Amino acid sequence: MKFQPTASHFINGEYVEDTAGEQIDVIYPATGEVIAKLHSATPAIIDQALNAAKAAQAEWAAMSGTERGRVLRRAADIMRERNRELSILETHDTGKPLQETLVADATSGADALEYFGGLAASLTGEHIPLGGGDFVYTIREALGVCVGIGAWNYPTQIACWKGAPALTCGNTMVFKPSETTPLSALKVAEILIEAGAPKGVYNVVQGYGNVGASLITDDRVAKVSLTGSVPTGRKVYAAAADGMKHVTMELGGKSPMIVFDDADIENAVSGAILGNFYSSGQVCSNGTRVFVQKGIKEVFLNRLSERLATAKIGDPLDEDVNFGPMVSENQMNIALGYIEKGKAEGARLVYGGERIDGDGFYMQPTVFADVTDDMTIAREEIFGPVMSVLDFDTEEEVLTRANDTEFGLAAGVFTNDLTRAHRIVAGFEAGTCYINTYNLAPVEAPFGGSKMSGVGRENSKLAINHFSEMKTVYVSMNDVEAPY
Ligand code: NAD
Repeated sequence: MKFQPTASHFINGEYVEDTAGEQIDVIYPATGEVIAKLHSATPAIIDQALNAAKAAQAEWAAMSGTERGRVLRRAADIMRERNRELSILETHDTGKPLQETLVADATSGADALEYFGGLAASLTGEHIPLGGGDFVYTIREALGVCVGIGAWNYPTQIACWKGAPALTCGNTMVFKPSETTPLSALKVAEILIEAGAPKGVYNVVQGYGNVGASLITDDRVAKVSLTGSVPTGRKVYAAAADGMKHVTMELGGKSPMIVFDDADIENAVSGAILGNFYSSGQVCSNGTRVFVQKGIKEVFLNRLSERLATAKIGDPLDEDVNFGPMVSENQMNIALGYIEKGKAEGARLVYGGERIDGDGFYMQPTVFADVTDDMTIAREEIFGPVMSVLDFDTEEEVLTRANDTEFGLAAGVFTNDLTRAHRIVAGFEAGTCYINTYNLAPVEAPFGGSKMSGVGRENSKLAINHFSEMKTVYVSMNDVEAPY
C-alpha cells in the first residue's frame, strides 16, 4: 500500500502503533482502492498522547514567542517546499482534484503556520493605570493541552488552522483527524518536529468519534476545537461544558447567496460555481441556497448550465481535472438521497442529478431550480454538489428568507448597488459574509459561524483569544485600607 504510514499515531515526536485498536481502512475515492490500513487509538494510546502533550507544555510555553514563532515559520517553509508531495497525498486521502489541493490545502496550512508564527513574538498583556499609583497588568497565558478534532474535507488545513494558533500561544495539542482522512495530519506532525518543535508539542491520534469523545472529557485537556457537523458539535460542546473547558466550534451550514438583477451575471455564476461545486460541494461555508431575482432567473440558469457543461470530471491526479469524486461512498449516497428528495418534493432538476458509473464515488454537479423555502434540499446541509436555486422579488423579502435557518456560517450577495450590498450584509445572520465574491478564507480574516454553525472564530488575531487567557495582576503602591 503506497500510502501506508510508518504507524497510525504520532506521539512525543515519533510514530506509535497499537494494533489492538479497531482497523481503519483508508480508501482512495477515485478508485475505491484501499491505500492504507490504520488502527483507531486504544485507551493506552490516548493516555500516552495526553501525557506527552501535558509533559511538553510548560517548557514550550516558557520559550520566548520569537523562538516558538521561528519553529512555526520553519514548518511553513517545509510545507511549501513539499507542497506537491503533500497535495498528492491529500488528493488520495480526499479525492479532491490535484488542481485544488496544490493551491488550497498544504498551502493554506502553511499560511496559518506562517501567520501565527509571525504573531508569536508580539503576544502580550496590558498595563492598566488605576490612579493613585495603583495599576493592573495582565499576563496572556496558554490554556494547556488543547484537543483538535477534524472533518474530512480539508484535513491538512484543519490540522494547521487548529495547531498553529494553539502552539503560538504556548499550548500543546493532541489532534484527532477524521477517520475518513487520517493521513495528512501525520505529515503536519512530522514537519513540526523537523522544524524544531520539541517532542510532544503536536501529537496525532487516529480514531472514530469515540476516541474524540474520550479526549474531550479527560482532565488533562483545557480546550477543544472541533470542525464537524452540528449534531457532533452539540455532543462535543456538552461534554466540554461538563469540565468547563474552552471550545471553538466550526460546524455546518446552509448558507444563502443572493443575486440581484443588477449583478454582473458572469461573476455571480462564478460565485455560485465556487460556492457549490469546489471540492465536489464538500465545503462547510457553501452558498447552497442561491436566491436569484426573478428577472434574471432564466439567464442565470442558462449560463450556469453552459459553464457546468465545461467542468472536467475525472481522474483527480490529472491536473486538468477540476471536479473529482465524493470523499466516500457513504457521502455520495447521502447526496444522491437528497437529489431524490428534491425531485420528489417538486423541485425542477436543471442540471446533473446522476451518479457517474465506475468504481470511484463520482456524481454529477447538480442544480435544482424552482426550489421553495420549505423543501428538504433548501433546509438541510447536504455537503455535496447540489445547488438549490430559489426565486425572489424584493430585498426585504429575500433577507428574511435568507436568515430563516438555524445555521449562520456564511452568506453572500451579488449586486452593483453599493449601499444595498452593505445593507444586506448588515442584515445577514452569519459569521462570514461576502460581497460580489464567495468562499474565500484568508488566514488574516476571522472565519466562523453564528447561530447553530459555531462558537468562536478561527484565523486572524481573534484566534489568539480562543487559545489563551488573561491573568489579571492588581499591584498596590499604597497602604492597604481595611474597615477594622
Ligand atoms: P462529523 O461531525 O461527522 O465528524 C467530525 C469529527 O468529529 C470527526 O473527526 C469525528 O470522528 C469526530 N466525532 C464524531 N463524533 C464525536 C464525538 N461524540 N465526540 C468527539 N468527536 C466526535 O463531520 P464530518 O462528516 O467529518 O464533516 C462534515 C461536517 O463538518 C459538515 O457538517 C461540515 O459543514 C462541517 N465542517 C465545518 C467547517 C467549518 O469550518 N465550519 C469546515 C469543514 C467541515
